[in-house]
Formats: sequence, C-alpha cells, structure tokens
Amino acid sequence: MKTDVLIIGAGAVGCALARELSKYNIKVTVCDKNDDVGGDASKSNSGLFSTSATMPVGTLECKLRTIAHSMMMNICKDLDVPVIECGSIAPILYPEQLETAKALTERAFLNGVYDYEILPAQDILEMEPTLNPDILGGIYSPRDKQANQFILVSAMAENAAENGVEFILDCKVTGMDVSNGKIHMVHTTKGDIEATWIINAAGLHCDDIAKMVDECDFTVHPRKGEFYVFSHDTPVKVSHIISSVPSPKTRGVLVIPTVDNNMLVGPTADDVEDKSDRKTTAEGLASIKAQALNMVPGLRFEDTITQFVGARPAREPEGYDIRFSEKVKGYVGISGVRSTGLTASVGIAGYVVHGLKEAGLELERKVGWKRTRKGIVRFADKTVEEKDALIKLDPLYGKIICRCEQVTESEILQAIHRPVGAKTLDAVKRRVRAGMGRCQSGFCSPHVIEILARELGIPEEDVRKRSENAYMLDKGI
Ligand SMILES: Cc1cc2nc3c(=O)[nH]c(=O)nc-3n(C[C@H](O)[C@H](O)[C@H](O)COP(=O)(O)OP(=O)(O)OC[C@H]3O[C@@H](n4cnc5c(N)ncnc54)[C@H](O)[C@@H]3O)c2cc1C
Repeated sequence: MKTDVLIIGAGAVGCALARELSKYNIKVTVCDKNDDVGGDASKSNSGLFSTSATMPVGTLECKLRTIAHSMMMNICKDLDVPVIECGSIAPILYPEQLETAKALTERAFLNGVYDYEILPAQDILEMEPTLNPDILGGIYSPRDKQANQFILVSAMAENAAENGVEFILDCKVTGMDVSNGKIHMVHTTKGDIEATWIINAAGLHCDDIAKMVDECDFTVHPRKGEFYVFSHDTPVKVSHIISSVPSPKTRGVLVIPTVDNNMLVGPTADDVEDKSDRKTTAEGLASIKAQALNMVPGLRFEDTITQFVGARPAREPEGYDIRFSEKVKGYVGISGVRSTGLTASVGIAGYVVHGLKEAGLELERKVGWKRTRKGIVRFADKTVEEKDALIKLDPLYGKIICRCEQVTESEILQAIHRPVGAKTLDAVKRRVRAGMGRCQSGFCSPHVIEILARELGIPEEDVRKRSENAYMLDKGI
C-alpha cells in the first residue's frame, strides 16, 4: 500500500500526531505491533497532566509540555475525555526537604509556573486531612490534573479515524529498504508500505526503528514503574494528587485519585535491561507502601485489587529528541519521551506537523474536519431516572455483564463497533471497564468472550486477551 505519512506507533504521541494530521487533505496511516491503540507506556502510567514547574529550564521537553498543558483541557472537552482538576500537594516531611522545595519554587518561576507555592502545614492539612499530621508544610500545585490515560489516547485515535486516518493494528515494522538517502519501502508483518514521510513514534522501541535507517546515536531502556490499584470502597481516599517532593530522576511515589475512583499508588523508577519486563517485585511494592504510608498513614493496602507495571522509554543521552533527518529523506525520529509524554503528546504533535510543513509537505486544510467525539455513556455513573431513560433508548443498557463495575452489554457493543474498536478482552476492559473491578474479570470474562466472538464473527477459541497468542480458551496449541 501507499500513503503520504506513515506513523509507527499508536501510543499517545502517534495518536496525537494522527489527529493533528487528520486536519489536512493527505493520506495518513498509523501502524502498531499491538492489537489495540493506546501504546505501551501510554496506557500504563499515572494519567497526570502536570505543569512544567519542576522541569529542567529551557529544554524542548519543558517547552512542549508547557504548551501541551495549556491545550489539554480544550482537547479533553472536544473529545469527551473525563479529567479531574484536583491539583497536587507534595507534603514536606523533613527539614532538608524545605530547601529542595524552595529551589523547586524558584525553578517553577523560571518555567512560568507562578502558582506553584509552599503553604504552611496547617493550610495543607485543612485541604488534605488524610496527610501525615507531622508535615512541616507542602508544595501546592493547583493546575495538576488526572485523566483516564487510555480513554484520552483512544479518543484521539477514534477522532483521527473519523477524519480519515487508517489504523493498521497487529502490524509490526520489521525493516526498511533504504538507499541513496531515501526509504523506498517499509516492511511490516502485514505487508509492505510505501510512504513519503515516516514518523518514528515507537516509544520504548524507537531505537530499533532508528537503527533501520541508521539514525540511532542513542539507546533506550525501560525505567519500570510499579503501581497498586485500590478498590472504590477503600475508606481513606485523597482528594488531591499527593506526591513526594520530586528528585531529578523521578517525581517519586504518588497517591493518585482517579477519574474512575480507583486510587493509584506508585510508581517506582527502576532502570532495567529487558524491554519486555512487566513483572512487579516484592521490593518495589514494599518501597511504594512505605513511602505512601509516610505521606498518608491511613491508606489501606489490604484494599488493593491489582498491581501493574509501566515502562518509561528512558533515553541515553536524556531529553526529548525530535529530528527531521538530513541523511534519510522523509524520516522523522521522535525519542526521549520518557515520563511526561501523555501530557506533552499534543505539543509534540503540533511541533512535528509544523516541522513537516517547513520541510515541504503540502498541508491543505480539510473542509469539514470533525473536531469533537462523544464518549460511551457509562451506565454506572447515572441516577436511577437516567438509567431508566438509557434502557428505554437501548434495552441492552438493562443487561449487566460486569457486576463489579456495572458495565452493560450496550457499552461493550459500542466499544467493539466504534472506529478503531476493541477486538480483545483487554481492549474492551480499557474502553468500558468490564473486568476492572474487584473480581478482575473472573465473573464477566466468559460473557465478554461470547460477545466478542459473536460480534467479530469468529469462534470463541479465537478470542484473545491481548496480542499474539494470548487466547482465552484452549486451542490445543
Ligand atoms: C510509570 C509511568 C508513569 C508515567 N506517568 C506519566 C504522567 O503522569 N503524565 C505524563 O504525561 N506522562 C507519564 N508517563 C510517560 C508517558 O506514559 C510516556 O511518555 C508516553 O506514554 C510515551 O508515549 P509514546 O506514544 O511515545 O509511547 P508508547 O505509548 O509506548 O507507544 C509506542 C507504540 O509504538 C509501538 N511500536 C513499537 N515498536 C513497533 C514496531 N516495530 N512496529 C509497530 N509498532 C511499534 C508500540 O506497540 C506502542 O504502541 C509515565 C510513564 C510511566 C511508565
């Protein structure tokens, strides 16, 4: 097949780019090795839209995150992405942290974040009574927010698809034919693709792609982040994002209220070698627990319903690198999008599209570009009267499939049949929360398998949990 722009990777960066490029009269294709959009790092993170307060001053990362933070709320409104505007507090627990906190507010000022300030202990405790009563004060950052990270990325993808972008999933880029400073062909597990522009948004694997065009003067390794997920009904809940006083390497452990009402506690920040390592560790979880309890002593870790790991694509040397290759015509490499990329994605997209224009890609604005997208109406969030009205409109809103999260058959069908819809159990779970509750899909998965098989017209044995050979039923292989 032929396309004007091929984006490799359907994470936050790839999907934000796809949406931005869908505004123009060109053919845009996104391919991803996974069965679903949503990326790797992009679907397993804290979901925070944070200001650039603590970022190294003057870096590309700082600039793009600042721009993106100011755009994000409008984009979430347009795409019907739920966000909680809760602000964050970093409690100061030790006298030596006072000096760090002062230095951070100076840096915040240089980064144009004037509302990042140190407040006295009494004021902080009034705002967040769950905190350790012995705190010496706290840093308050009112414009930090939390969003459902997967809904954001899939909403950008859906909107891009509605505006003409083609998504090819389960499609791994395996090589490229490069000669005389030009990429002639991109080889994938779903056939060859010829493209005028090729954008590498492959996150943790962007170095593998960069090597294919001999543009790799850096390395990428996973920086693992482990998390606990708490059940809805845990009695001690925070109303702000509670973060450790940040260090240069990480923002430290956080206690995070989420749009879905499941608190997240984590992450760790451990450099590892193996890019496929997603194992939680006893040491990692114990260190999160100790740090979190020091900040919020009442947390009940016995209300944990699951744990997970995300892997930040950590680049050496560090920092965002967005390059329009001078050596290989039409290649754009994006690397170093480490721990701020959910927020910065829409800034990166604007930056790259501007660069493409400068480099000669003709971008004629499409007439009738659809700016908005409506999310799936969630039955569980509605009042009794609203639920009645939904059932009248669609009787399948009256059929509960996931008891823990009160997810109905109507929601699951919408998740499957939307643009870039769900094809696996995990894809359904991320879109509508079937299987996200206390039983972790023990009760609803047989029903979801049945629905997926029926709607996709495949045998139940072919229904997968996620990519590759993760079949739910015994296929005898
Ligand atoms: C623990 C943790 C906490 C974080 N917290 C936050 C936060 O609160 N706020 C924030 O803004 N950011 C946060 N981040 C950072 C953020 O998640 C990342 O910066 C961002 O998701 C990177 O997006 P991406 O699209 O570049 O990469 P990814 O989401 O990893 O997407 C890359 C895609 O490329 C695909 N791909 C790779 N190789 C190939 C190939 N050969 N062929 C086809 N496809 C390929 C992959 O399948 C993947 O889907 C956090 C990250 C972690 C891990």
